[in-house]
Amino acid sequence: MARSGLPKVTVFSLGGTIASTGAPEMPGDGPGGVAPRLGARELVAAVPQLQGIAEVESVPFRQVPSGDLTLGDVVALAAEIGRRFASGSAAAVVTQGTDTIEETAFALDLLTCGGPVVVTGAMRNPTLAGPDGPANLVAAVQVAVSRGAAGLGTLVVLNDEIHAARFAGKTHTSSPSAFRSLTAGPVGWVVEGCPRVVMRLPELEGRPAAVSGDIPAVALLTSALGDDSRLVDAVADLGYQGLVIGAFGGGHVPGHVAAALGRVAGRIPVVLASRAPGGEILQRTYGFPGSERDLLARGLIPAGFLSGPKARVLLSLLLAAGADTERARAAFDRMNASVSAVPSPPAER
Ligand code: ASP
Repeated sequence: MARSGLPKVTVFSLGGTIASTGAPEMPGDGPGGVAPRLGARELVAAVPQLQGIAEVESVPFRQVPSGDLTLGDVVALAAEIGRRFASGSAAAVVTQGTDTIEETAFALDLLTCGGPVVVTGAMRNPTLAGPDGPANLVAAVQVAVSRGAAGLGTLVVLNDEIHAARFAGKTHTSSPSAFRSLTAGPVGWVVEGCPRVVMRLPELEGRPAAVSGDIPAVALLTSALGDDSRLVDAVADLGYQGLVIGAFGGGHVPGHVAAALGRVAGRIPVVLASRAPGGEILQRTYGFPGSERDLLARGLIPAGFLSGPKARVLLSLLLAAGADTERARAAFDRMNASVSAVPSPPAER
């Protein structure tokens, strides 16, 4: 608790639409349009309602479109969040571009511990009528300091909905309600400034041990109608140290691509995810060439409930922590087993 009697919350800004404004028109000067130009201090100063909720510390961390962020940036952010928790911050709120929140929030979920972390952004930039950034920032801080957020890992809060980072995905290019948890639903919502958390989540197991140094390159390929295996065949020779295949439906690829995936799986870990935005990979239903049973028998690792982008985050961080294929498989299995474990009730209600 800070001197004000309010909890101390650290707000990190990383750029994105929430921080994007236009530059004065200058002929020949760049592509025009809005770009990330505001930092954490400006974002926080623009929302006076925060003053009654928390003592906010602002940390400008990056100022980029979120497609320019890397897993290395997230590893550095997680370390900084840990330092802020150690020096008295009760919670962390991260503002960034929405394009990659489903990956960065999940990476933070795997890498941080010690307090609530809430990631938010905006779909409508500050130059538009009805920008959603200020409301999302207020809701994120309200959730971060709420008792309900304790023990839920990293959360994604936009449009007054609370999503677990492990499930949240961006499902629309421009709508303020772009974020959904298609497999599980949101864990709660915010009404009249009060976070309502209606689902408890078990702690994720299978997280990577200490991650340091460079993050190995992991490719994410998506199956498509009539696909051939040229990209799959090339992956290991291009230097990728892992592959995630976003297969059709329950985990299927064209039959003639299956052998290529099996060959790659003999060299580097290959994870079988789905290009469908919700649901789990199947494991024991279909038996045709290129089916999930065929691919798993060829050594692919089932992603389970993790989407392709989230599976790529987990595999990248596991490899960065020194895992080989069998340790990566064990971690995916443990994480999938842990999502259906019954969570223990919070110590205090
Ligand atoms: N359209 C993006 C956003 O919503 C831009 C980005 O991800 O940086 O923030």
